[in-house]
Amino acid sequence: MRKIGLYPGSFDPLTKGHMDIIKRALKIFDEVVIAVVKNSSKKVLFSLDERKAIIDEVYKTEKNISCISLDSKLSVELANEINALAIIRGLRAMSDFEYEFQIASINRSQNKQIESVFFAAQDKLTFVSSSMVKEIAQYKGKISKFVDPIVEKILEEKIKSSGT
Ligand code: ADP
Repeated sequence: MRKIGLYPGSFDPLTKGHMDIIKRALKIFDEVVIAVVKNSSKKVLFSLDERKAIIDEVYKTEKNISCISLDSKLSVELANEINALAIIRGLRAMSDFEYEFQIASINRSQNKQIESVFFAAQDKLTFVSSSMVKEIAQYKGKISKFVDPIVEKILEEKIKSSGT
């Protein structure tokens, strides 16, 4: 049976931090399904469709990586539907831990069969987040170390067009 891991997140936009987690998850899972979620507590720059389109473009040649947008159900429900073994998340610092631990407990309360698997961020990527990348881009700083060239181009265009 193929081992599927579901990686849910806001991905506003996809960063090299996320990409590193996906690459490492593929050492354990045969397939990673990325779920772009609507997180009502976060102010986003890109719409759900735009965030998914970016990921589809970055991974268009990767047959074991796919992306789904998720706006009307819980990730744990999607995990169950696609027969995922586990939900994948990343940990950057202690500050991520409390939140991630809470989410994992909530997910377990919904479905005990689906495990949560955490990948510790690589040293050089611990400080990389979507919000930090957006902030740098807004002030016309260099973001090529933190995002794929496809994301860099789309983010710069988005900031130009939104006039922020
Ligand atoms: P969410 O809004 O669900 O936290 P994010 O897109 O911010 O979504 O992050 C998705 C997941 O990826 C989270 O578990 C987050 O901790 C993890 N993550 C984000 N950036 C990094 C990074 N640089 N290194 C490791 N994990 C990361």
